[in-house]
Amino acid sequence: MRCPKCNYEDSRVIETRAVEDGSVIRRRRECPKCGRRFTTYERMERNKVLLVVKKDGRREAFDRQKVLKGMIRACEKLPVSLETLENAVSSIEEELYSLGVGEVSSASIGEMVANRLKDIHHVAYVRFASVYREFTDLKNFIDEISKLLEKKEGGKDQR
Ligand SMILES: [Zn+2]
Repeated sequence: MRCPKCNYEDSRVIETRAVEDGSVIRRRRECPKCGRRFTTYERMERNKVLLVVKKDGRREAFDRQKVLKGMIRACEKLPVSLETLENAVSSIEEELYSLGVGEVSSASIGEMVANRLKDIHHVAYVRFASVYREFTDLKNFIDEISKLLEKKEGGKDQR
């Protein structure tokens, strides 16, 4: 992305945020040469359907809300902002679409989530990783995390 001021051909991304429910990526960029900051908007490639392949071979459409919910559960009661998690999900989504494939395994998504959580909060990562071995699909993962947290909280958060 060229700098609008000095036309330098490269820029550093300082912030990535999804807007319009994740279909548009807003980036704050900084020119490493002149320091000019500018914003770009990139519409995500949506003409391609992304299917998640579960362990048992079933497929379902990729759903960023599911991934986000899983991360929120993993970060429950931790000092992690929703914005941080939204950004992490956006970067996962972006990575998935940039692979240019139509299908991705649920295990690969789990791997990506684990990698992000590792940087966000070690407790969230441990929570996630402790159920990750039994990870078969996103729904199972969310359920497992809920159970884990309920156990830990002594059933305090029952709905
Ligand atoms: Zn510049």
